Amino acid sequence: MLIVMEKGSTEEQIQAAVNTIEKRGYTARPIPGGDRVSIGILHNKGSVDAAHFLGLDGVKEVIPVTKPYKLVSRELQKENTRIKVGDAVFGNGSLPVIAGPCAVESREQILSIARSVKKAGAKLFRGGAFKPRTSPYSFQGLGEEGLQYLAHAREETGLPIVTEVMDVENFDIVEEYADVVQIGTRNMQNFSLLRRAGKSRRPVVLKRGMSAMLQEWLMAAEYIMEEGNPNVILCERGVRTFVRHSRNTLDLSVVPAAKKESHLPVIVDPSHASGVRDQVVPLACACAALGADGIMIEVHNNPDEALSDGAQSLYPKQFADVMEKINAIHAIVGQK
Ligand code: PEP
Ligand code: MN
Repeated sequence: MLIVMEKGSTEEQIQAAVNTIEKRGYTARPIPGGDRVSIGILHNKGSVDAAHFLGLDGVKEVIPVTKPYKLVSRELQKENTRIKVGDAVFGNGSLPVIAGPCAVESREQILSIARSVKKAGAKLFRGGAFKPRTSPYSFQGLGEEGLQYLAHAREETGLPIVTEVMDVENFDIVEEYADVVQIGTRNMQNFSLLRRAGKSRRPVVLKRGMSAMLQEWLMAAEYIMEEGNPNVILCERGVRTFVRHSRNTLDLSVVPAAKKESHLPVIVDPSHASGVRDQVVPLACACAALGADGIMIEVHNNPDEALSDGAQSLYPKQFADVMEKINAIHAIVGQK
């Protein structure tokens, strides 16, 4: 249930409504809006009687929230959530691009790629230091040493860092270095990890599980928000289908569907969606036309020798070209 306060309601009136909610054993979550405050009621078992709140001073209306995901839902918050990281804003109609290699491999590799993606216009730099690999024999990432290289690249280029956290055990260390923590497709329903991310001060990129329905994805985001972290960026990265021409199938339709259901920004990763370099470019263009809130693209200075995901990594020149295309498309169809 959502209590909507009158425009210009006072701090005292808002606090009185919060107290009334808490006295009944529920949790109150005030949500500042454009010109009025709303208060979400959480942790109610069964329905809540609106009559308890309708008579309070400053309360305009009481709206039932029908969705199982409450905090994530547009029912609770009409305006888009905007998440600012460095120069980038996710959710304001702009199209920030996150670019970098799949995995951090060496200091030189990271610096070289960070410089080239910065020059091409990327707003954030990505790279995994803890890698979730299908095979235990594949390169697993450099761990903390990799995080140090990322921090060094940030110092040099000014680009904020997005990097994956794989488990609760390593959360503290990843959070210390990262500007944005990423939860990967394989961990979308790792509920203890989601809860830990909810206690973090860092924005979270939450990738869609490779066979997750929209509702499951949004419920995963709800875990993070429910713990108190409002800064969740949803990332579509392709789902598993029967096709063989690509690694996954990019589900473009989930972007408008997610944005209709939720106020959270929705970005797209065409690299993991396709697994094939030649498909990444047109798919990135489609994302720009689609109204996505950002794009994540893998780029490598030497993709043929990459320790992870070389086949889908763009060459730096290719990335610079796709940035031009993306920006041109966004200038025409962007919603800013
Ligand atoms: C990644 O971004 O490097 C990654 C492993 O992505 P996903 O979780 O989407 O496979
Ligand atoms: Mn990858």
